[in-house]
Amino acid sequence: MHTPDTDAATSYSLPAEIQEFCDVARRIVREELVPLEPKWLSSPNHAYGMRELPAIRAVFDAETANRIEKVARDTGLFYLMVPEEYGGPGLGMLAQVAILEQLYTTPIMLPIANVPNILYECQGDQVERYLKPVIEGTKVTAFAQTEPNAGSDPGGMMQTRAVRKGNGWVLNGTKMWISNANECDFLMVQAVTDAEKRQRGGITMFLVDRQNPGLRVEVPGIRTWLSTEAKQHVVHFDDVFVPDEDVLGEVGKGFTLGQRWLTIHDRLLRGPYALGKMQRALDMSVEWAKQRVTFGKPISERQAIQWRLVDMYIDIQALRSMTYEMAARADAGEDVRSEAALVKLCSSEWGTRCLDHAIQVHGAMGESLDLPLTLWYRVLRHTQIGGGTSEIQRMLIARKLLGK
Ligand SMILES: Cc1cc2nc3c(=O)[nH]c(=O)nc-3n(C[C@H](O)[C@H](O)[C@H](O)COP(=O)(O)OP(=O)(O)OC[C@H]3O[C@@H](n4cnc5c(N)ncnc54)[C@H](O)[C@@H]3O)c2cc1C
Repeated sequence: MHTPDTDAATSYSLPAEIQEFCDVARRIVREELVPLEPKWLSSPNHAYGMRELPAIRAVFDAETANRIEKVARDTGLFYLMVPEEYGGPGLGMLAQVAILEQLYTTPIMLPIANVPNILYECQGDQVERYLKPVIEGTKVTAFAQTEPNAGSDPGGMMQTRAVRKGNGWVLNGTKMWISNANECDFLMVQAVTDAEKRQRGGITMFLVDRQNPGLRVEVPGIRTWLSTEAKQHVVHFDDVFVPDEDVLGEVGKGFTLGQRWLTIHDRLLRGPYALGKMQRALDMSVEWAKQRVTFGKPISERQAIQWRLVDMYIDIQALRSMTYEMAARADAGEDVRSEAALVKLCSSEWGTRCLDHAIQVHGAMGESLDLPLTLWYRVLRHTQIGGGTSEIQRMLIARKLLGK
């Protein structure tokens, strides 16, 4: 298995402390994770969308899984995305982006506390019941916005309702495509609380325990090309009672919270998610092209192959500059909603075509499931749909361009 020699962090000028973290991440990928890739790729258990720790435990023996988790915790990378007040290093977006790029150069995701930023809205005993267990990895959450008839236009089309009853709310409706719904401990659910206002003050976010009577997750889930296991589910809410203390944030502000989660997790952080894969795919393609001989010469001497490598390189350089700049601007306090849409759009579309080049350069070997290329092609192609389609990202960017 080819070892990544990505030099991402040094091709962009980063402060010394961020660079140090990147170096640690790169070393862990090379020394700990790359040697495990053959086992990972040959296992049907590495289901896409599974949280990192459960996925690692599903594939490796307990000793290996514990060692990986220990490395993540001992190096501090486990808390990479956690603010200082909850025991993390309090890194900004630029640092997170640069470090995550290194971690995404392997298909084996190092376990990290992948806490949805909106959970930091937790108040009172929500902090102990929901936020802290997610930080520690003892509880898993799922995000439930999409419905059978509400995907790209959730604000306008959402049907799930929450009606006031006593000291709480009663939820009725159906969500669809909810990742990890059958493995999570609780869901962050959006429901309409004021049908007149809808996304402008009429949608609220609720924290709903999966064991809540009235909540039913359809099993098996929906099969997709992302994994051999069905990880997305239809979830029914039939008179699900949620007490006031399990409203996340303010009543009526749930749509804005959802957008905040999507802006960072499903848009800005799609940059490093794609970059790690694209850079590794380029490294692999260069190496393969130099040693694969046809008609008496390595294919690296053919212009047709060279141009594919150059096209990959252009996409990587452009995406990295864009992503790192947007992350730095987010750190400077700018509103980066439409910039994050741009990163999402480019990382998914350029990422897909970059992996397409890599597969082509590898010939039949590119289709082998012993390499991560087809897996990465599929997950990057998915990001043109999940978390907001390319069309919706273009719509968001157009709104900014047209001053709407
Ligand atoms: C694997 C997977 C995991 C997912 N995980 C989750 C999850 O955990 N939680 C969750 O809430 N959702 C999840 N989703 C749902 C996902 O976010 C939606 O599928 C996505 O937002 C698109 O919605 P849709 O499928 O309803 O497409 P539609 O809205 O039906 O769109 C269909 C097509 O029309 C285009 N289109 C729509 N409106 C316009 C317009 N105004 N102008 C131009 N083109 C338009 C779209 O871009 C798309 O190409 C997941 C989906 C998948 C496939």
